[in-house]
Formats: sequence, C-alpha cells, structure tokens
Amino acid sequence: MPDYGPEVLGPPPRDPESRFWDPQIQTMEPERLRELQNERLRDLMQKVFDVPVPFFRDKLRSAGITAAEDVKTVEDLSHVPLTVKQDLRDSEAQDPPYGTYRFSDPRTALRIGTSTGTTGTPTISLWTRRDLWVEYEASARIWWRYGYRPGMIVTHAHPAYLYGGGPMLSGSYEYFGLLNVWVPPPDTDDAAEQGLRFWLRVKPDIPFMGFSTGRFFEVASKLGIDPKDAGLEFKAMPGFGMGKGMPLMTAGAECFAYVGGPCGKLPGAHIAEDFAVVQAVDPSTGQEVPDGEWGDLVVTTLGRDNALVRYDLEEACAMLREPCPCGETSIRGLWGGRFKDLVSSQGKRFQVEEVASALRKVPDVSDPSLEWQMVKPTDDDAPLLVRVERGKSASADDTVVAAHCADAIRAAVGVGATIEVLARESLPRSGYKAARVVDE
Ligand SMILES: [Zn+2]
Repeated sequence: MPDYGPEVLGPPPRDPESRFWDPQIQTMEPERLRELQNERLRDLMQKVFDVPVPFFRDKLRSAGITAAEDVKTVEDLSHVPLTVKQDLRDSEAQDPPYGTYRFSDPRTALRIGTSTGTTGTPTISLWTRRDLWVEYEASARIWWRYGYRPGMIVTHAHPAYLYGGGPMLSGSYEYFGLLNVWVPPPDTDDAAEQGLRFWLRVKPDIPFMGFSTGRFFEVASKLGIDPKDAGLEFKAMPGFGMGKGMPLMTAGAECFAYVGGPCGKLPGAHIAEDFAVVQAVDPSTGQEVPDGEWGDLVVTTLGRDNALVRYDLEEACAMLREPCPCGETSIRGLWGGRFKDLVSSQGKRFQVEEVASALRKVPDVSDPSLEWQMVKPTDDDAPLLVRVERGKSASADDTVVAAHCADAIRAAVGVGATIEVLARESLPRSGYKAARVVDE
C-alpha cells in the first residue's frame, strides 16, 4: 500500500453547519486580502521576467515596464497593457500550438481543452494539478454558498472532450464531495431522453439548471414525463434579479472559470480575490471605472501555474465594495454581458438575453420551452426580425401570438419587432448554447 490514501483526491471534510467553505479567506480583513494579492502579484511579475513569458514580458516592456519591481501592487496594474482573446489567438498562430504566453511548460499540465470556438479559432487552455485545485477551491466556495453539501446528488449536461467545461464542472463537483450525475448534452431527443430516464431512476437533489434546461422540459413533455419526477424544477438562483446585470460568476474557462459566486444578500458575486485581481476597466485609459459603473472585465489570475495578466474578456462588469451582511469580505462583481452579444437596433443597444427573457414571459411561446432566434439587424431603422415557435398550449392565432411577443419586446428593450410565428420544431435545437442571432 502507498503511504498516502484516497484523501489525495479531495479536501478534508468540514462541519456542514459552517457558514463558509474557507472561512479564513472568505472573511479575511480587506487590507490583509489586498496584501495577499500584492504578494502573489509580485510573484507573478517575477515569473514574467524569470521564466520568461515572452508574450507578457514584451507587453510590459512596450509600456516601459522593464523589471518585475515596476509592478509591486494592484494599483500599479493600471500601467500594464490589456490582453484580449485575439492576442492569445495570434500568439498561438505565430508560435503553434501554444503561443508564448504560457507561464509553465505545457507538459507539466495534465488537462487540455479549447473554448467552444463560437467567435473564431478556439484557443488552447492548459491546467496543471495546481490550476485545477485553484478552480476546485474557488468553485467549492460557490457550492457551499448555494447550500450544497457533500452527500447531495447533483447533475449537469455540459459538453465534454476537447471542450474543457464539462470535465471542469464534473471535477469540481467530485472534489467537493457531491454525487455527480453527468448526462449527455440534449443535442437530440434521444440524448435528452437518456438523461431524463436516468433522472427518473437517480433523482438529483439539486435541480438541473444549465443552458439547455429548456430542451429537457421540451422532450419530457413529448414523452409524457412530469419534469418534477426527473428533478426538473425552476428555482430562483441567489443573486439573480437583484440590481442591474447578473452576478459575475465566470471569467471564462481560459482565464478563471469560477471567479465568483453570489450570496444573495446583496447584488453581485463575491470574487475569489486571493486567486485573482478583478477590475472594471475603461480600456481607453487602463484605469478602473468608479464602483458600480460598467467597465471591461479585466482579470489577472493569481496563485496558478498558468496565469493571464490584465486579460480583458471584452465583457461588461461593475464592481461593488460596500460591506456585505453575509459576512464575506471580498468585493462583489456584476456581469453585464459580452460586448459581442450587444445588439443595436432603432437607436437602442441591448443584450440578446434581454429579448429572450422578454419572450419567456409570453405564455403562448414559452410552454414547454422557448425556442426562438433573431436576425442580426443590418438596417438600424428596420424593426427587429424575430422568429419564435408556438408554445404547446398557445390558444390564440399566430397574429395574436405575434402581437403579444412584439409588445413584450417593446416593453423590455424599447424597440419595434416583426415576429414570425413558426410551428413547433421549426428551429434548430442545441444541447448546449443555441445560436440565437443569425445572419439573414
Ligand atoms: Zn455577501
């Protein structure tokens, strides 16, 4: 027998009555937390020049930063140039396959994955054992806040293989001590049925709430399965519907998958500041915007083998710093969506998700699930063209259903819309994130 046991696969157990997964970090004095960030930031800067990491070293030099000592504190980060996804893509193209932005030898990693590639060639992500541990610890704080405890049954339908999200979520659930039921993404009705039938046998304690939840409701309805028997139940998520935007919960698989999680007491998500500096930045100046205002989500990861420095996710975020009554001391972040997903029409700018949530409130099109798409506007004066499938229980004729949808969209985002009402199953289905905006 080896002199180590199965405890190497997971963390020590803790009192289920404890308020926090990691009380020491989660209730640390903000000044001490900032000092910890500064220490880890100095380590990171040292590595940029010592390893070296040519991509980031050259970025720093281009801004006149020629030594690690030039960036001593989080405040000094405002002088460090931003890096966007396209920079990573370019680096990988110039120095295939990994680029020159890695902080550690790719062969010291044990997991590899790519982004979904919805916005160009997917970039490659690498995780060492330490990198996974950082993600798992940060995610454990999130699950604990939600009230999950080891011994519960949880389920998900994330895609797998080269897409890193599925193994990451499964790994984090197992690390935490949950019984992880991983069903296939509901790309087809058969795949959805496989998940539903298994949930009837092993019913999850925690309802499935993934991007594709609607697909399971749709197929359950076809099969005559009561969704509740399969553990499918819409429950309000903590921190959603509070204040503007949503809780800032991820900085992407390539940067920090579990950057924060909501407590539900105040808006926003508590940020894992010991593992990242998260900033809302005005990209034209590099400076942080005032608290509560939207800026670019810019993340510098700490305490990892594979870091990103001043990574601009090209998404909107806002930071909140007033003390939270839940007892956690970190700053909180709000998420305002990807800039790429912003749609302009009739002088208004809005997120695709705002249209979806407006339509979801129209019973004619949301039973058992909302299936819709929108044509990317090319003429700003034209009404938005939206296609939506009739719901199962829609009683009104198409003209009336269309009017209901147009009213809901006008009320939510203030634009006129032309609605095409389609028969059920006219639009393509997706087992993960469906493409809602199409080119005409
Ligand atoms: Zn809180």
